[in-house]
Order: sequence, then C-alpha cells, then structure tokens
Amino acid sequence: MAATPHVHDAVIVGAGFGGMGAAIALRRRGLDDLVILEREDDLGGTWHVNHYPGLAVDIPSATYSYSFEPNPYWSRLYAPGTELKRYALHVADKYDLRRIMRFGTVVEQAAWDERARHWTVATRDGDELHARFLLTATGFLSQPRRPDIEGVDDFAGTVLHTADWDDEHDLTDERVAVIGTGATAVQLIPEIAPATRHLTVFQRTAIWVTPKLDGPVPRPLQGLYAKLPFTQRVARHVGSAVLEAIMVTGVLKFRRLSVFNRGAERLATRHLHKQVKDPALRRQLTPDYTFGCKRPTFSNNYFPTFNRDDVTLETTSIERIEPDAVVTTDGTRHEIDTLVLATGFNLWDTNFPALRIVGAGGKDLGEFWRTSRFQAYEGVSVPGFPNFFSLNSPYSYSGLSYFTTIESQMAHMDRLLGEMQRRGATTFEVTEQANARFLERMTRRLDDSVFLRGSCATSRSYYFNQHGEATLLRPTSTLNAFREAHRFPLEDYDLAS
Ligand code: NAP
Repeated sequence: MAATPHVHDAVIVGAGFGGMGAAIALRRRGLDDLVILEREDDLGGTWHVNHYPGLAVDIPSATYSYSFEPNPYWSRLYAPGTELKRYALHVADKYDLRRIMRFGTVVEQAAWDERARHWTVATRDGDELHARFLLTATGFLSQPRRPDIEGVDDFAGTVLHTADWDDEHDLTDERVAVIGTGATAVQLIPEIAPATRHLTVFQRTAIWVTPKLDGPVPRPLQGLYAKLPFTQRVARHVGSAVLEAIMVTGVLKFRRLSVFNRGAERLATRHLHKQVKDPALRRQLTPDYTFGCKRPTFSNNYFPTFNRDDVTLETTSIERIEPDAVVTTDGTRHEIDTLVLATGFNLWDTNFPALRIVGAGGKDLGEFWRTSRFQAYEGVSVPGFPNFFSLNSPYSYSGLSYFTTIESQMAHMDRLLGEMQRRGATTFEVTEQANARFLERMTRRLDDSVFLRGSCATSRSYYFNQHGEATLLRPTSTLNAFREAHRFPLEDYDLAS
C-alpha cells in the first residue's frame, strides 16, 4: 500500500515580495508548514532576475516596501535595484523564510485532488508535493518576451535580454542595438550609450517620459527614519497619497478628469523640447496615444542620449535579423556586435497563470480565463478552484506600488483564513455569484478609465489582453481595495469542513 503523502499547510509558488508576503500572512494565522518553490536560484523575484545597468525602482522607496518592515536606509528617493534585492534578503532572514524556500524548482502543474481535498503540485524534476492551500505569486512581469522577429535566433553575436543580463559582458567599443523603448529601455539606454562605439535604438512605439524628481536621501534623514519610524511613515503616506491621486485622476477617472492627462502630456512634451533641439527627432520621440494608456516613465537622461552623435533612433520597422545585422524594411542593414532585447514580458499568453492549474472537476484555469473572460474575485480567488489564492490575477494589481497589492491581498487572506478557523472549516471556494458581481463591477468601472475613454489604439499597451480588455489593473482606488480586503462579505465564500 502506498504511504500516505505528507500534506503541507501551503505551497507558495514564487519567492519574490508577493510570495514572501503571503508566507508572512499565513504564519500570522498559525500555518507553519509552508514551502515556497522558486524557479530561480535565489529569492527576490523581479529584483533578483533584473540587474541590467540603470535598474532602479520607479515608485518612491518609502512606499515601495512592506509597511510593517520599513527600511530607513534607502539611499535615494528611488532606490537602485541592488538595494531592493538586499531588502528582499533582509526580509527573508528576519522572517525566517529562507529555510522554507526551494530554489531551482520549476512548478509545471498544480491540481486539486477532490477525494483528498488538497492540492498536488508537480515540479519539472519529477517531485510531487501536497498542500491544503495553493498560492501562486509568480509575478506579472516574469515571463520575458523574445520578439517574434524573423532571424532573431540566428543572430551570431551576443544577445542580451534585459531580464537575463550578463554582467560580465563588456559593451565597450561595440556596435549595439536595443530593441524596445519601454520603462526598462528608458533606464538602460543612457547607462550603456557612453561605452558603446555606436548604439542604435529601435523604437516601435514612443513612450511618454516626464522629468524624474530624484535625489539621495541624506544620512541625517535616514538616521531620523531609523530613530523615529513615524517620520518615515509620514513620508510613506505622502508617497502613497501622491500615487493614489495619479492613479485615480490619470487612469480611473479619465472620463471626467482628462485634464490631468493633457497636463501630463504637456509636461512630457516640454521636457522633450528642453532636452532635444532637433524637431524631427522630437517628432519621433512623441507618442501618439493618450498619456496613461501605457505605463509612462520618467527620466532626466533618456532624451538627451539621442542628441549624441554615436546614438541613432531608428523608427523604421525591423524586417528581419541576420547573423550580423538588424535589417529594416527600407533595406538598411544595421551591422552590430550585440543585440539587446528590451522587449519586456508576455503577460497574456504565457502568464495568467504561469503554470497549469487544474481545479475541481478538471477545470483548467488558463483555459477558463481565455475562453470566458479574465477574472478573479477581488483579484484573489476563482470559482471552481478551492483553497487557491491566485495572487497575480486579473484585476489584482491595485494602485501603483506593488506593495499595495501585496498587503491588501494579505488582509484578504487573513480575513478568510480567520473565518475558516472560527468555523472549523478546511476548504474555501468563492461563489459564482460573488465572482460574477465583482467582474461586472470592475467592467463597469473601467468605462470611466483612460483605457476605454482615452485614445489607446496605437499604444500597444500590456495593460490590454488579447481580447482588447484592460483587465490587469483593479479599476478602484487602493482605499477601496483595502476596505474590501478587510470587509468583503464572508458569504461570498462557501466554507466546508
Ligand atoms: P515593455 O514596457 O513591455 O516594453 C517593451 C518594449 O519592447 C516596447 O517598446 C515594445 O514596443 C518593444 N517590443 C516588443 N516586441 C517588439 C518587436 N517584436 N519589435 C519591436 N519592438 C518590440 O517592457 P519593459 O520596458 O521591460 O517594462 C515592463 C514593465 O516593467 C514596465 O512597464 C514597468 O511596469 C516595469 N519596470 C519597472 C521598472 C522600475 O520599477 N524601475 C523598471 C523597468 C520596468 P511596443 O510598445 O511597440 O510593443
């Protein structure tokens, strides 16, 4: 007779800030037998994987961190990526999470075992784990996109994706091409341009760039934050309030407040005019879609990089890539040594979910989302998937700092698990009605947003899924998200023992 398998309290997939936050939330409810599975060789998620030159957070650091674990020592208003990685290591140590993490473990599938009423999780190297609860914290921007350009795999020189940067590779004196002009490229291009012999930037869609108000956090202020933590809480609240105002006015309430977006466009255009004198270049760098359709960015050194003689902005489409060159549709061959792919991430094909998840009655989550609509109750749970917290779901990203999402989800989990404990329940499942109600409300609220009311057709924004619906961001204020995380109707879940 087969031995009864060990059933953990929970398996969490992903050792980034989302997965660590989830583990902390579960522990607070007394769930101690936890395993965190991580495909990379260390923790930190995005901040472990990304280490390209120029990487920094673009949300004020006092806000981009757990509220219960402030770091007084951020060196700048927008901390560099290395500090985020260090912060992740600190959190893992302080909350004793490292010992429950298994690195280099790719999860292929998780399936709900209806008879045993637990999840069975299968890894690529043939292991099988069992757990009462399954949590996926696999990130939104975690499946790097290789462009579907003919010949990209035949390039004979070095290919560097920004999410797989080779720190040893020296670009000095090389002819380099960067494909992409998203937030990553905006940080990377000014950093690498001075070293290269020639840099050609291939832009398909221009990005809105506003000035960056950044600077070092003086040592005495760091000391004050350490000594009197409430002072940093004030800074955090100010940061959160500004982000909330930007999100609500610039994204969610576009129908009535499009004046904000027009103001932001004017600010970005003035910034461009100040920094670039050539009108033709300025035209090329000016987006033709509404500010907010696509994630805008800010930088003080991106535009000036294009004034350099050794940097070319190429806006003619790429036709193909040959072993030594990028060839554009006008027949020009741009000979290069290194090809940099700043081409971002695939959210809607290979993510959502990042692994195969099979719920009750053989319901496949990926199939469900694609054949009906992308949806998740409060961005956390899905009908037909008992004891499953899907932390990177449609409508789960709330506000602009990811930590807002993480902490509201922690609150949601805490409320639900607390109720289960009070009632002695062992399983939960969100009801079809609650899920439908939530989806209907999110759909309605999107109607006021820049995504539906702005001019977004040419933006090629990853906020939109393959059906043209903007189902990534939760179209409510973060205050609403937090309120509902603490007060959602408990009847929205079926609990069973
Ligand atoms: P992204 O915003 O998706 O940008 C990808 C770029 O690659 C776009 O310019 C895209 O052009 C281009 N591209 C993709 N496929 C292409 C193709 N086949 N041919 C030509 N161009 C192609 O990705 P990202 O810049 O990596 O940024 C992703 C997100 O990561 C950001 O929006 C932000 O949320 C986050 N991020 C955050 C930070 C931070 O916090 N500090 C830094 C970097 C990134 P199209 O626009 O025409 O598709």
